[in-house]
Amino acid sequence: MRFPLALTVKIASHIVKHKVRKTPKFAMVLQLEPLHTCNLTCTGCGRIREYSTNLKDMVPLEKCLAVASECDAPMVSICGGEPLIYPKIEELVAGLREQGRVIYICTNGVFMRKKMRDYLAAIYTPAEEPKLLRLLADKLITEKEAEAIRNANEAARSKVVIRPTKWMYWNVHVDGLEFTHDLIVEREGVFKECVEAIKMAKVLGYQVATNTTVYKETDVQELEEMFKYLSSLEVDGHTISPGYEYDAAKKDMVKRLGKQPEDFFLTRKMTRQKFARIQEWGEKFTIFGTPVYQEFLAGKRELTCTAWAIPTYNVKGWKAPCYLMTDGHYDGYQEMLTKVQWEKYGVVDGVARDPRCENCMVHCGYDPSGALGTNYQSGDNWKNFAYNFGSKPKPYPASQELMKIAFNGVSIGKGHLAEAKAAINSPRAAMNGAQAAFSRKPEAEEHHHEAHAGGSCATPDTSERDALLAKIKEVKKD
Ligand code: SF4
Ligand code: SF4
Repeated sequence: MRFPLALTVKIASHIVKHKVRKTPKFAMVLQLEPLHTCNLTCTGCGRIREYSTNLKDMVPLEKCLAVASECDAPMVSICGGEPLIYPKIEELVAGLREQGRVIYICTNGVFMRKKMRDYLAAIYTPAEEPKLLRLLADKLITEKEAEAIRNANEAARSKVVIRPTKWMYWNVHVDGLEFTHDLIVEREGVFKECVEAIKMAKVLGYQVATNTTVYKETDVQELEEMFKYLSSLEVDGHTISPGYEYDAAKKDMVKRLGKQPEDFFLTRKMTRQKFARIQEWGEKFTIFGTPVYQEFLAGKRELTCTAWAIPTYNVKGWKAPCYLMTDGHYDGYQEMLTKVQWEKYGVVDGVARDPRCENCMVHCGYDPSGALGTNYQSGDNWKNFAYNFGSKPKPYPASQELMKIAFNGVSIGKGHLAEAKAAINSPRAAMNGAQAAFSRKPEAEEHHHEAHAGGSCATPDTSERDALLAKIKEVKKD
């Protein structure tokens, strides 16, 4: 099965319960942002700009658990910022488990190994030695760390920790292979750290997923290589979503200067081109999401946005109407459901009800539509059932060749950030028209970004990432 049986049953019974009760709108996945602080400063990250990143601005643990109960979504995606910085992350995960929820910790991967060492220290007995030795042999922990695990004090042994369970996934943000990913996150070594964290998690029996956002300039071939490599690490599943950003200023340029929308936006047409092979990927790799959403991405059908099914809660409250756009924050989920005029959003029969929605096909707006049957076509239920209950694609065979393809950056001396920055900011790379990708725009210039991309750990400004990816492409040609 692509998704563990118990989890599939939980989600299916949640849908059936609400269908029987004829609940008009209900939550499927809660996007919980307990804080917006992050240890990275990725190119174009919208979240660390839109909200305060002060560590004082956090959703208290009790509130996090209360909002999860309030909306009663069977799945909770803990995102941010970087959720592993949240001081009560272990208690949050434990509390959500007590509530019986499926949990995704959406992380940039940097602190994952630390959290797993905490887990090992808490549970260590000599029976864990084979695992410890395996981690040592694979260089996933150091001798010093192994000793610290073996000799953990009482405080470490009684600490609440994040334990492996089929109900929880580490959901690691990976937007490309080493060269691309490290440049996007603006720190060399992050891709390698993600890979090591994934390997360690698999040794310890955790479930691991990855999430990837596709931009206008994303190289589809690189994505496929990335899936092959991640699959060879026995990652349990992948979420992939087109990025999206509405920018009124650029929209205006389309109108006034007669420019093409595709000069600025990942339009629906372009998204469909990028995702033309999504169904084939779904057969080869464990792509999460419904086949109905995959058909939508591939341009084979239309869907209506159901943003209310993946609500976002953060320091300001329930964010409406969706993960991408902020037209307001509400104190309660039901209050948001009642007060937001949902009929003003989305695209119906090719007509955008809100201009900001025009080119949006993001996972958090449309994947639930596929599961909830909002544009039901005969056979959809069977398709969804067959996809989830069908056999899980086998891991892609690991090989030296694949490793070489994946580690194409700092590991082979090509990814040093300073050199890479210089290369992509070279006059030659600049000739492709991209702006200086690493120049941070001051807050005051951050105008008109009324809807931002989603799908990764946060909401990146697609124009900045596209500028960067365009330059990366240019450099790779050399
Ligand atoms: S995109 Fe994610 S990892 Fe990067 S700075 Fe934003 S919150 Fe942090
Ligand atoms: S931006 Fe996308 S997810 Fe948000 S309301 Fe519009 S169509 Fe739905």
